[in-house]
Amino acid sequence: MLSPSRCYWLACGSPPVQDTHDLPPGARCALCASLAPQGLAMVRWSGAESLILDKLTLPSSPWVCAPCLWATAWNAPPGRAAKEGQNRGPAPPMYSHHAVLSDDATALVSYANASKGEKPAILGWLRADKPGPWWCAVADMGKKHLIPWAPLNPPGRDGVVLLDEQEVTLGDFALVDAMVHVLTVGATKATVETGAYTSNEWTRCAADLHAFEARWGGLRGSAWFSLGLWLAQRDEAAVEQRMADEKAAREARKEAARKPKAKAPTTPKTRPGKAAAADPSPASGKVQNDDRRHEERTAADPHGGGAARPEDPGPAQRLEPARPVGPARQPGEGSGQRQRQPRGVVQRHAAPASVERPEQGQLGLFD
Ligand SMILES: [Zn+2]
Repeated sequence: MLSPSRCYWLACGSPPVQDTHDLPPGARCALCASLAPQGLAMVRWSGAESLILDKLTLPSSPWVCAPCLWATAWNAPPGRAAKEGQNRGPAPPMYSHHAVLSDDATALVSYANASKGEKPAILGWLRADKPGPWWCAVADMGKKHLIPWAPLNPPGRDGVVLLDEQEVTLGDFALVDAMVHVLTVGATKATVETGAYTSNEWTRCAADLHAFEARWGGLRGSAWFSLGLWLAQRDEAAVEQRMADEKAAREARKEAARKPKAKAPTTPKTRPGKAAAADPSPASGKVQNDDRRHEERTAADPHGGGAARPEDPGPAQRLEPARPVGPARQPGEGSGQRQRQPRGVVQRHAAPASVERPEQGQLGLFD
């Protein structure tokens, strides 16, 4: 049976591995536990220093096989050439790897790798029905070798894959579809991961979030939920359209908010005048406006100071020469009538009138 390391080594063209030699018959690899015709003593392998014991599949073996040495070296994977001028190019830990074997697991049928920017390809591997035994190692951190420890699965779609060093049992891919949907309509990976959606997200897509939580919220925290979220990628074209729509809606709201404001200053100006004319009742809320109108009348009237005049003729007399409107009026014009008729009104308005009078530079002298 081909180990994942041997699959990878075969996919790389069965290259010679430095420092390896024939091993005793029946020798098995400590990393992958498969038969190791060629390899190296563990004590002579520098890479062993970075291994921890629980990563050894067969800790009792003193050997490491040539394919495991190759799979844990920093050579560029198939199809990933090192960039010119760089000493150290792409290496196996930077990629996810996937392979399908023949029915009896003795031959490599297919191998592929993908970077983190090629998640749709990884999702495609996992969703597909595999015709033979298969394995998959998904690299997120991109720093540790994974291939030797990828579990071998039976043909089909179900199985266990590595996500970095975590083994994940594949579940219902409808979860990934649901994640893609909520990410597209407005949630983020960070909030889907925790379930702590923001108020903006609730505003944007509450029904979608409720539906997602009702069906999938219970899986939150599971390895499958984590891998599903890692794989899920929003529909960027749909997101672009949504954001354009949201921007247009925001601008429409701003515009709508601006229009009433433009009207606002004119409304209070016209309304009180009309209201005062329509409802002159001093008992109404327009008493002040009514007062102003009355005040205007009294100011224009030589008897504007009429309330004070009878009480204190002295100041009134002193004011006589300073009255600008006085000369325009006939001294005797309706004086008696106006004083008698609305006397109560005039007196009632005398106080506020005198308060404002100083602005007119006349009755301020009363103060
Ligand atoms: Zn091995």
